[in-house]
Amino acid sequence: MEFETKAIHVGQEPDPTTGATITPIYQTSTYTQESLGKHKGYEYSRTGNPTRTALEAALAALEGGKYGLCFASGLAATSTVLCLLKAGDEIVAGNDLYGGTIRLFNRVFSNFNIKTTYVDGRDSKNFEAQITSKTKLIWLETPTNPMLRLSDIKEVSQIAKKRNILLAVDNTFASPFFQKPLDLGTDIVVHSTTKYLGGHSDVIGGAVIVNDKKLHEQIKFYQNAVGATPGAFDSWLVLRGIKTLAVRMRKHAENAQKIAEFLEKHPKIKKVNYPGLKSHPQHELAKKQMSGFGGMISFEINGGKDLAKKIVESTKLFALAESLGGVESLIGHPDTMTHVGVPKEQKDKLGITDNLIRISVGIEDVNDLINDLKQALGN
Ligand SMILES: *Cc1c(COP(=O)(O)O)cnc(C)c1O
Repeated sequence: MEFETKAIHVGQEPDPTTGATITPIYQTSTYTQESLGKHKGYEYSRTGNPTRTALEAALAALEGGKYGLCFASGLAATSTVLCLLKAGDEIVAGNDLYGGTIRLFNRVFSNFNIKTTYVDGRDSKNFEAQITSKTKLIWLETPTNPMLRLSDIKEVSQIAKKRNILLAVDNTFASPFFQKPLDLGTDIVVHSTTKYLGGHSDVIGGAVIVNDKKLHEQIKFYQNAVGATPGAFDSWLVLRGIKTLAVRMRKHAENAQKIAEFLEKHPKIKKVNYPGLKSHPQHELAKKQMSGFGGMISFEINGGKDLAKKIVESTKLFALAESLGGVESLIGHPDTMTHVGVPKEQKDKLGITDNLIRISVGIEDVNDLINDLKQALGN
């Protein structure tokens, strides 16, 4: 079965009790047992809920994985994966991560004596160099947020396998439509389903997809034990979102390519970061491990914070907002918005400067979007 078909059908058979074509929202916390211990597979909705089960099956199929697990947010998914670690264990992570993930590593799990070392993820050897006998997990995001840098998933997975270390990849930016980390050797795929999978900026959610049975059982245990699970309605919204993932992603990427090319030629712009541009230093790797380049772009303007502020406040179609991956276009200033919690020295190292702007390209008409950026940039 191909991607588009899986998105619409896997886990989403007609409802067995009524024939409802669309998976119902099982808005229930509990399930009545026929007799003591005899039930239809559900006892309590933190542990399992049929709407969530449908979503978990569909997401696993889209990533080409065996098992899916859903969470109340992307960070809930990440926190639950981190429960696989014990005090004294270490993480080696790419240094250009979602700001909330860095906050979680540095300010929450560090309190449980789980140390994270950050490396420039563009060179796989950097991960290898930081591995110690305590390293239990490698964490990477590719393409990264907001610099759109890549890590070679296959190379890093070989390093991780050789040392018996788990590799987790946050696949939020590419979505499974453009990148399948499990096929490239990753053990754990993490998503913020809030973004492209949900796709309509109307729900917060997260997911984990794995192939290994034992790993699935462990994370499933923590899913229930920690309890950061999504409600039935939120599961249903994501399930509805993924039905159109393929058509949306194609349009996001087509629009983003045109906008990146427009920005690259604009005299007020110093540098554009988009993996689909030939000028992107890792364009070849992007072509190798992705089947498309996604809808996220960041760019540096010739100017400072004042000009950046003026631009992000002048767009009319691009909404000034955090988040990404919805059908509508968004614009933001990472330094003061999404990455405000990241230590200044780390931001400096990464290039998250006050003249950096990030856009999430929506699926509106691309000429309208380009005209909006033109007027915001002052033509
Ligand atoms: C948004 C985001 C997260 C966190 O997800 P939430 O659903 O907001 O908790 C994690 N990783 C990436 C890449 C994200 O963009």
